[in-house]
Amino acid sequence: MSTFTNSKFSKQKEKILEVTEMEATKTKMVKAAEEEHPIPATGLAAQDSSGVLSPFNFSRRKTGEKDVRFRVLYCGICHSDLHMAKNEWGTSIYPLVPGHEVVGVVTEVGNKVQKFKVGDKVGVGCMVGACHSCESCKNNLENYCPNMILTYGAKYYDGTITYGGYSDDMVADEHYIVRIPDGLPLDAGAPLLCAGITVYSPLRYFGLDKPGINVGIVGLGGLGHVAVKFAKAMGAHVTVISTSINKKEEALEKLGADSFLVSRDQDHMKAAVGTLDGIIDTVSAVHPLVPLISLLKSHGKLVMVGAPEKPLELPVFPLLSGRKIVAGTLIGGMKETQEMIDFAAKHNITADIELITADYVNTAMERLARADVKYRFVIDIGNTLKSSN
Ligand code: NAP
Ligand code: ZN
Ligand code: ZN
Repeated sequence: MSTFTNSKFSKQKEKILEVTEMEATKTKMVKAAEEEHPIPATGLAAQDSSGVLSPFNFSRRKTGEKDVRFRVLYCGICHSDLHMAKNEWGTSIYPLVPGHEVVGVVTEVGNKVQKFKVGDKVGVGCMVGACHSCESCKNNLENYCPNMILTYGAKYYDGTITYGGYSDDMVADEHYIVRIPDGLPLDAGAPLLCAGITVYSPLRYFGLDKPGINVGIVGLGGLGHVAVKFAKAMGAHVTVISTSINKKEEALEKLGADSFLVSRDQDHMKAAVGTLDGIIDTVSAVHPLVPLISLLKSHGKLVMVGAPEKPLELPVFPLLSGRKIVAGTLIGGMKETQEMIDFAAKHNITADIELITADYVNTAMERLARADVKYRFVIDIGNTLKSSN
């Protein structure tokens, strides 16, 4: 069964790759990235699966009537950027300009834009388009629209490939623009646009947002550390489950977690069996699930948000005894993303960041691969990305 599924999955992936490569080639044959659109832009792009980023000139469309254009000031580095730059999910299209935690200041709006004006502080997260007519879209869940368009490495309505926020200029339909509330710092607020919504949405949807509920957060990286902050603000009792003992003191004292488990310490894990109502698993690599399922009470929920490149093993017996659920979620809809940012501003939730210059990006990627960041790299695009146009 699993071999069948795997081979079916890899065939589908091959097909997607074939089609996207053909499409990318077609687009290239028609026009180079610099000439596709009228507005010159500069970014950082990976050219192949080495994932190495280098300066890249391309172009953006003119501001359409419903578009908001903004000067990018900061962009967070999500682990998904690393997966994509290295083609770890097998769907990347090169050149690839990553970045979906993008914030800046509005420079131009189209004449039908209603919610934004020049000078507003705004952001773009993981999506820039969807069909707006399917059931998911009608329920404000554009993130589950079968035609959702990702901020980078996806085909836009006009057939060109989308480029992300490791770039000086950004333009998107106002539906996909998030207002950054006054008082929320732009640099430390940027990671909320992906990391924030990705953990906020499942905490709400799976009812892990109640005072006194016992929530586990696995992996104390970009997603994990903001998950701790959101869960605490919602009133939960939070346990961090980490491979890194060196994050313990900070998790408890700075991030506000209530307890800390070292996942590779079996005695430690055994002592906590059956204690959690729900777990948000943010781990980016293959890891064992059974020890996590064991931590759940009966009816507990293990919610996967991390996206390792290879399938994980999921024995069912630990689920049967205790009616436990394993689920997965992908970012969140636009309405909920705005709600999350407003909640963050109200509760003073931001990411703990290491602000870096654009020329440090490859070192940052190498460190991210080793889980050596507390807890999110953010690129200072506004001050350090040099335009070479
Ligand atoms: P990150 O900052 O690298 O954090 C991942 C954490 O996982 C690490 O800090 C580490 O925490 C833990 N970890 C890493 N390797 C591990 C291993 N081999 N075994 C056990 N734990 C390990 O990454 P992120 O930006 O938070 O993203 C996490 C994952 O979520 C990525 O796969 C990303 O693509 C995915 N993602 C999904 C969505 C979605 O919508 N579902 C959205 C954004 C990102 P400790 O040191 O504490 O163990
Ligand atoms: Zn992300
Ligand atoms: Zn739709």
